[in-house]
Amino acid sequence: MTDCIFCKIIKGEMPCYKIYEDEDFLVFLDIMPVNKGHTLVISKQHYETIIDTPDELLEKMINIMKKVTKALKQDCDGVNIAQNNFKASGQLVPHIHFHIIPRFESDGLKSWPQGKYDENEIEQYRLKIENLLK
Ligand code: 5GP
Ligand code: ZN
Repeated sequence: MTDCIFCKIIKGEMPCYKIYEDEDFLVFLDIMPVNKGHTLVISKQHYETIIDTPDELLEKMINIMKKVTKALKQDCDGVNIAQNNFKASGQLVPHIHFHIIPRFESDGLKSWPQGKYDENEIEQYRLKIENLLK
């Protein structure tokens, strides 16, 4: 994709701080890290979200993510893996990627704010999603 920042990085038209590369994936540092060492795992093929990325590619991708997580964990206390899909989720770069974020006991970051269901609402959501999965 011509306008895609990550495709430009893959083609070498834009620089990156590369950690790992193989025929399917590129792994490099996020330039605006949540914590230092925040790593991105991207597919070399341009797919926008997890929904249009082929299963076989995602299966390989999780193995790379596990390796990166294992490496990062040697130098931090915990690791978040995050992946945004579509603008409403906060996806800024519409090219499939996973964030692997080193976490520290002392980093003061919080996870997402959590809410609660009204009475019976959780069962309605369970049913709705169960049906959507069919
Ligand atoms: P998203 O919000 O789409 O899940 O995450 C996109 C990530 O890409 C952001 O964390 C952002 O900091 C990172 N990013 C955006 N442009 C560049 C770039 O040119 N180089 C690198 N290394 N990271 C980028
Ligand atoms: Zn792309």
